[in-house]
Amino acid sequence: MSQTTIKQLADRLASGKTSSVELCQDYLARIQAGNPKLNAFITVDAERTLAEARAADARRAANNAGPLTGVPIAHKDIFCAEGWLTTCGSKMLANFVSPYDAHVIGQFKAAGMPCLGKTNMDEFAMGSSTETSYYGPTRNPWDSARVPGGSSGGSAAAVAARITPAATGTDTGGSIRQPAALCGITGLKPTYGVVSRYGMIAFASSLDQGGPMATTAEDCALLLNVMAGFDARDSTSLEREKEDYTRDLARPLAGLRIGLPKEFFGAGLSGDTAIAVEAAIEQFKKLGAVIVEVSLPNSGLSVAAYYVIAPAEASSNLSRFDGVRYGYRTPDYGDLTEMYEKSRAEGFGAEVKRRIMIGTYVLSHGYYDAYYLQAQKLRRLIAQDFAAAYRQCDVILGPTAPTTAFKLGEKADDPVEMYLSDIYTIAVNLAGLPGMSLPCGLDGQGLPIGLQLIGDYFSEARMLNVAHQYQLATDWHQRTPGGF
Ligand code: GLN
Repeated sequence: MSQTTIKQLADRLASGKTSSVELCQDYLARIQAGNPKLNAFITVDAERTLAEARAADARRAANNAGPLTGVPIAHKDIFCAEGWLTTCGSKMLANFVSPYDAHVIGQFKAAGMPCLGKTNMDEFAMGSSTETSYYGPTRNPWDSARVPGGSSGGSAAAVAARITPAATGTDTGGSIRQPAALCGITGLKPTYGVVSRYGMIAFASSLDQGGPMATTAEDCALLLNVMAGFDARDSTSLEREKEDYTRDLARPLAGLRIGLPKEFFGAGLSGDTAIAVEAAIEQFKKLGAVIVEVSLPNSGLSVAAYYVIAPAEASSNLSRFDGVRYGYRTPDYGDLTEMYEKSRAEGFGAEVKRRIMIGTYVLSHGYYDAYYLQAQKLRRLIAQDFAAAYRQCDVILGPTAPTTAFKLGEKADDPVEMYLSDIYTIAVNLAGLPGMSLPCGLDGQGLPIGLQLIGDYFSEARMLNVAHQYQLATDWHQRTPGGF
């Protein structure tokens, strides 16, 4: 079992102990051995990966390497990558080879980080279990009868199984943090607008945000340094000074004020999760943090508001998939209307259709005021709750998910039960705040438990500092599933 972090791989490359080609060959072999059990990757293309690795080695030989040049990474199949099949987990895009790079992909290329492949995900990132993928479910490496969480389940499972050192994910309502929790890895969703959405296939544009998934907070900081930054091609990208997200990692936690929202610790939290989160709180006290109780009174309404806003935006975003310009087109149709209808009926899966129908409904004349407008008002109240809490504390702490990994099929026929998987994560997206999940224990069945940190706007460096200090004092992030 390899405990190799991005940081360690970068050091080995810098000292000449290994080459990018060697590293990529090693990880490609691990993918070949491990992926049949996991179904974490949709596309692997060894030739393409090795060509990128050779280019990275050439860059290093020419003394032109950056800090992470040559370190491989996998990308969620929601990011358009030139020359790579980019499916978004959907039959609709099963034939789509992207002609261009997403901003995030371009940043990783510029850093010289070879792509190990494209990871499995819920169709159009709609789901919490990776079961809605057209390519079949991903399995949790800790127990193959269980889901890895979702929608970035392929990325989370691949990192947990150490068949990639890190991966990208996206988080609209919890899709980085919840799978990170269920697979025992570390994942970060940045402040809305910090990572460009250009070339990241849109689900709900006012909520979607890309971020890193890795084994440690330190790795997430290094990766965020690559991903973050202004991009004029995304109108919601924020024009800010470039930050070094590793700058605060070593800062001691003495005097840190940790806010515990009382709404996160009530009924609904499984016993083992509550115990592990309590133990983490004790650990933070030992590190010098001060605990304050805070309240997020409207957070209980976040799932309801989200399931109006996210489908509304999805129904609009997904209208572009019409069978005309790219993607799936039905082979058999009489006229244009029938071509549209059949292409969409055959190309989209059930959950995507459910969201399009809900979204179209809540935006329609007569219902807009009753649903969409109300949800937007709730969204504002939720953001105000956080603003009030951050007057009393520096970072908010709680569970990431109400339970550990559930069984495949367990919630597949009950959409509302599935939606509640994100009960602790969704408010963060509605407010546009940064959040992360890190491993903090194992339940009675040996399944990982995730701890969530939520920061104020642009406090990623501080949040990563808090997570890193916790990881220096504990070893939960080093626990790996048996057999990988
Ligand atoms: N599980 C949530 C949903 O299904 C969030 C998904 C996400 O963050 N992409 O919408």
